[in-house]
Amino acid sequence: MKIVNLLKKGKPSLSFEVFPPKTETSFDSVRTATEEIAKLKPSFMSVTYGAGGGTSKYTLDIAKNIKELYAVPTLAHLTCVSSTKATVRQKIKDIKDSGIQNIMALRGDIPSELENADRTGWDYKYAIDLIRELKEADSDFCIGCACYPEIHPESANQKEDIGHLKEKVDAGCDFITTQMFFDNNLLYNFLYKIREAGINVPVIPGIMPITNANQVERSVKLSGSFMPQRFKSIVDKFGSDPAAMKQAGIAYATDQIIDLYANGITNVHVYSMNKPDVARKVQSNLSDILGK
Ligand code: FAD
Repeated sequence: MKIVNLLKKGKPSLSFEVFPPKTETSFDSVRTATEEIAKLKPSFMSVTYGAGGGTSKYTLDIAKNIKELYAVPTLAHLTCVSSTKATVRQKIKDIKDSGIQNIMALRGDIPSELENADRTGWDYKYAIDLIRELKEADSDFCIGCACYPEIHPESANQKEDIGHLKEKVDAGCDFITTQMFFDNNLLYNFLYKIREAGINVPVIPGIMPITNANQVERSVKLSGSFMPQRFKSIVDKFGSDPAAMKQAGIAYATDQIIDLYANGITNVHVYSMNKPDVARKVQSNLSDILGK
């Protein structure tokens, strides 16, 4: 099932993101965790590619497993930076052969050792190069791309960043998923600006439930997201009590999601980080809204 078609249903829904195992030995535990999340029957599940500690090798295995055993539509992430055309084309073929219709087309982070490298000879410099490659390989893929309500860290300003987002959409992107954010007003402001710039595809907000104090620093560093005082107070008060912090973090994410639905968002993507208990709790907090 294509994600763009799922979004047309118009009913509030939740999707979850998982990441693949880092090593073969952790494959079974990751598979079990992702299956537990799939049993919640989310609208779809995305499987990252080489992010969150997982390796790219298992993205497709995990995505296929979820789709085939639980009939949950899957979104396979794919990055292109520092990859060759041959590698990327093989990955695209593997995704197509597995029957997965949804691909999240990403550039990926530049590896630190290549940050100062001459990029002129690279096969892929930006996500748009991958989107064009996907369109050429199969115009029937449903393609997603990433966006940054608080600006991508490499962009000089938001206007430039939104300009590059528009190029990705014009190249054939069907929907956009956002980087995590902790203040919904930043998203509403961003939505206003991108609609004004002529970007009209669906936007799926990404919400990360922060369930322990250590995650705060890591998530902010990774995403560059602004932490509202209301959230900082929660961490100050409950950060040293793991159970209380988890409960408060899930409640905060739930609150954000309810506000998004109330403001016209159909599907919210939860960065569930291979934690079935967190995914389950967020979903049960929304049970009447989701009709589950
Ligand atoms: P791009 O869209 O290529 O943008 C990167 C930067 O280049 C931006 O500053 C942009 O404004 C600029 N830019 C774009 N086009 C041009 C151009 N033509 N000329 C000049 N500048 C340009 N990482 C992973 O490794 N694996 C994952 O699975 C993964 N999943 C993600 C999912 C989501 C929803 C998000 C938000 C991020 C994810 N990431 C993942 C992180 C992502 O790879 C990084 O944020 C990366 O630095 C940028 O990727 P992009 O696809 O947004 O890049």
